[in-house]
Amino acid sequence: MRVTITRIPVEKVAVAHLSQSPSRPTIAAEPEPGSLLSTTLAQLESTFDRLELAEGMRLLIQQPERELSVTIPIVTDDGDIAVYKGYRVQHSSARGPCKGGIRYHPGVDFGEVRALATLMSIKCAVVDLPFGGAKGGISVNPADLTPRELERLTRRFAAMILPILGGKRDIPAPDVNTNEQVMAWFMDTISSREGQYTPEITTGKPIALGGSLGRAEATGRGVVIAAVETLHKLGMTPQGAAVAVQGYGNVGRHAANILREEYGCKIVAVSDVSDALYNPHGLDLALVNDHVARNTSGLLAGFGPDGLADHITNADLLALGVDVLIPAAIEGQITGENADSVRAKVIVEGANGPTTLEADAILNERGVVVVPDILANAGGVIVSYLEWVQNLQFYFWDIGEVRSQLSRRMRASFEELWTLSSELDLDLRSASYLLAVDRIAKAIQQRGLFLASGG
Ligand code: NAD
Repeated sequence: MRVTITRIPVEKVAVAHLSQSPSRPTIAAEPEPGSLLSTTLAQLESTFDRLELAEGMRLLIQQPERELSVTIPIVTDDGDIAVYKGYRVQHSSARGPCKGGIRYHPGVDFGEVRALATLMSIKCAVVDLPFGGAKGGISVNPADLTPRELERLTRRFAAMILPILGGKRDIPAPDVNTNEQVMAWFMDTISSREGQYTPEITTGKPIALGGSLGRAEATGRGVVIAAVETLHKLGMTPQGAAVAVQGYGNVGRHAANILREEYGCKIVAVSDVSDALYNPHGLDLALVNDHVARNTSGLLAGFGPDGLADHITNADLLALGVDVLIPAAIEGQITGENADSVRAKVIVEGANGPTTLEADAILNERGVVVVPDILANAGGVIVSYLEWVQNLQFYFWDIGEVRSQLSRRMRASFEELWTLSSELDLDLRSASYLLAVDRIAKAIQQRGLFLASGG
């Protein structure tokens, strides 16, 4: 497949004045050095240079289109009033409705939500979904709330950001510490407000409320497709390939199990916050799954008896000499400090942002193939898209149809990026940004700028 990146011909279209900013205003708030926002903006900056984008276009893509901050009051179970800060950021609607998760975490702030919304625009454009990016969240530790308080907080938040949501405006999904129950409350609050059933307002819902089959496994399955395709490109076979997975949660667990069951990979290590297990001959994942299911904490800690696996550290796991390393836990795990010790041939980023900019440069230099998060973990948003399509037509597919659509889209996007990176001699992350920003810029360019005055 041939991929063409075209420079935006700013001089001959209706938005020519986008190139005429006399001086370059800074973005609304300077990002914290080393933050996800500053990394994302740095990556965008080098992409803009490669595409030779005009100044005005850079400013548009660098900054979110719309941002909403809300102060959410709830009545606690004790009868007090508690107040939380919430955010919804829409980065771009140039290619379609905005799409992105809602996270509940004490660390949520405007900077983080802006960065994540931008990354969603990039991710949707990389896999060519008709969506722009958004993200939202509340600065809260949900573990401090009772289920009733969590429901009140969610419903109040949904009502407060409703003016900018909509099945063809902005469609939330679950993210860190939110789940299908939270999406069900969102959908019910909005349907009640609108006076009609609106399942297309969120994705990641329970199946009974219009959720899609295959959504839970989707991100892990997408990671698997990215890993298998990469091995094939490198002339390696997945059968017997040694794989280490950091983070045995939703993404990591599905990826590990599908790789073993459907492709015959040898899962030599898995980890979570509590422990890391290693067996060079391959872990018995049925026993690991059984242990996690029986452990009240749902964690790996306490897996035994001795002889089934060695207990190593997460740092040891990242340095194992494996064919494929899948960081599927949290951001910032492979850094300038430990990138030299990574001995994997391929890294497939299940988590968002597990590799820092410094680490990326070191790994590229050393010839380690890194399949970036914006491609590798896009399976989740692809199946969210499929859920939205099913909701809009009130017609639901079987699991085979969902898996086959996911697989077709992931493989096509992988092939396109692999070709582009080979043709331009770029690493896969830079190629992904290039393809995505080019698509977003072209959409902005082709839509032109709407002038309310008609001028
Ligand atoms: P999860 O909470 O289900 O699982 C996370 C796992 O990582 C848990 O096993 C946890 O114990 C482990 N973990 C946390 N900190 C760790 C550490 N310091 N060292 C080792 N293990 C650690 O979350 P998830 O849904 O699987 O998401 C994982 C990552 O994938 C996140 O970065 C998320 O943003 C990203 N992601 C998830 C989806 C999705 O559909 N779930 C989609 C795209 C991206």
